[in-house]
Amino acid sequence: MIIGIDLGTTNSLVAAWDGESARLLPNALGNLLTPSVVGLDDQGQLVVGDIARERLQTHPQLTTALFKRDMGSARETRLGARAYRAEELSAMLLRSLKADAERALGQPVTEAVISVPAYFSDAQRKATRIAGELAGLKVDKLINEPTAAALAYGLHQREESTFLVFDLGGGTFDVSVLELFEGVMEVRASAGDNFLGGEDFDDALVAHFVERIGNRDLPDVTRPELAQRLRREAQRVRHALGQAASARFTLADDGREWFLELTQDDLATVVKPLLDRLRAPIERALRDARIKAAELSEVLLVGGTTRMPLIRKLVASLFGRIPAMQLNPDEVVAQGAAIQAALKARDASLEEVVLTDVCPYTLGIETSVQIGQGYQSGHYLPIIERNSVVPVSRSRMVSTLSDGQEHVIVRIFQGEGRLVQHNIFLGELDIPVPKRRAGEVDLDVRFTYDNNGLLEAQVYLPINGETRSLVIENNPGVLDKTQIAERLAALQELKVHPRDQQANTLLLARLERLYQEHLGERRAYIAQLANYFQQALESQDEREVRKAYSSVLEHLAQFEREG
Ligand code: ADP
Ligand code: MG
Repeated sequence: MIIGIDLGTTNSLVAAWDGESARLLPNALGNLLTPSVVGLDDQGQLVVGDIARERLQTHPQLTTALFKRDMGSARETRLGARAYRAEELSAMLLRSLKADAERALGQPVTEAVISVPAYFSDAQRKATRIAGELAGLKVDKLINEPTAAALAYGLHQREESTFLVFDLGGGTFDVSVLELFEGVMEVRASAGDNFLGGEDFDDALVAHFVERIGNRDLPDVTRPELAQRLRREAQRVRHALGQAASARFTLADDGREWFLELTQDDLATVVKPLLDRLRAPIERALRDARIKAAELSEVLLVGGTTRMPLIRKLVASLFGRIPAMQLNPDEVVAQGAAIQAALKARDASLEEVVLTDVCPYTLGIETSVQIGQGYQSGHYLPIIERNSVVPVSRSRMVSTLSDGQEHVIVRIFQGEGRLVQHNIFLGELDIPVPKRRAGEVDLDVRFTYDNNGLLEAQVYLPINGETRSLVIENNPGVLDKTQIAERLAALQELKVHPRDQQANTLLLARLERLYQEHLGERRAYIAQLANYFQQALESQDEREVRKAYSSVLEHLAQFEREG
């Protein structure tokens, strides 16, 4: 049996063809979406999905997310005693999806079609195949995410046509123009914004809440667990405003409570600056594909964030037509991958032309930004943005920060993190500068990236005409056969958290998070629930456990309603 997998940045899904249609397969908790988060539990066993997501906050050293962004790079993330590459973290997730599929289908699964973003480079595609191999899956075929969406909509059965896929997920925005010609699907152009997705909408709502309530009145909202809680609340409100005319944003802390009533119009105003950023990539993709919006035969909505009526309206007005949205936007990619898998089993796969002559990562330098009175270093200033067609050359102007400064260290990074500590350090240039007052010496930093993955960084000082440069061979480091075998052996030793305990573990993880988030009486109440549930688990009496489980769930629902 060949399955189809959408290995997403935020959520992953698995689907299989049942003879008539592509059916999504539920995970051990009965959900179709598995958050793309993995980690180790306190016994060193692998936890994946919702449990891991709950533990992101309570056990940051043992849990990780967003690793899709590191695919094809040599970056490693520490989980407990060991550091793992993105291929391995993806493999943990794939392994869990494979087990879910086997459970749902009642038969072993050995092969998968996995979807990847259209702009994924050769190294990123190789990394995805290796992740499959590490999970015990043969990955003969990858499919571009927009192509998969098109398959789910049956567009491959149409006559020659050109269409656009608008994919707004949790953290990324991708636009692709696809053309179907003589049975071959070609990505004519792809553009996007790697820092724009549902989570940015949540951040904007949090900022709005803090501003309206007034910073002085609130507890320290930069406290990590409080920040996390505000984001969760923002997401809840944002989802709720998809249906309800208004929703209440609440925050309770240390016996005090704040709330803000928000309408759909308020939401529209708050996210307006983000909505404005959707325009440029669309225009770029259309321009690169040399096609006008009116000539598109279809516009497809993909990604969970396009469930927002606000986005649907915007897309309709940008394209002057109603986009295709009969299918669930966060499920279509997995469905398409399953259709491709079924076609492959019949030797009838849809052929694709892949476009990989793009720079797969954002390249930039470290910078300082003004926060309050002072400057904070460690921030990232992108110079060449991910997904630029290569060869490409771009420059940014920066200047000195302090009076009498004699050197500027230009530190070069690759990656998508807001802070450079989350990115990969590539090299640095130490530039002597004439002593002047702060901000009086400009530096023109130019990056040139070519087809062979060579990056040239050049710094020019207009004040004295001097130039310094550095060439960096940006070898993404694809694992070789021996390395794959080693990592495979290491991963196989890793025990998986037992499937039949997942619901209980999720509940405990959630209680632990809530305990961390609250204070005083509310915290004590959560501790009581946790202790009660823990005791039931220790009794090992199945009936006792189930009773405690539903009772705790009920109390939690009540607890969250009370805010
Ligand atoms: P990715 O492709 O990035 O892995 P998804 O396509 O699953 O992720 O999108 C996840 C995003 O979709 C999250 O930011 C989530 O808030 C958003 N989302 C899911 N359902 C809704 C909804 N009903 N209303 C608004 N946003 C939603
Ligand atoms: Mg996606």
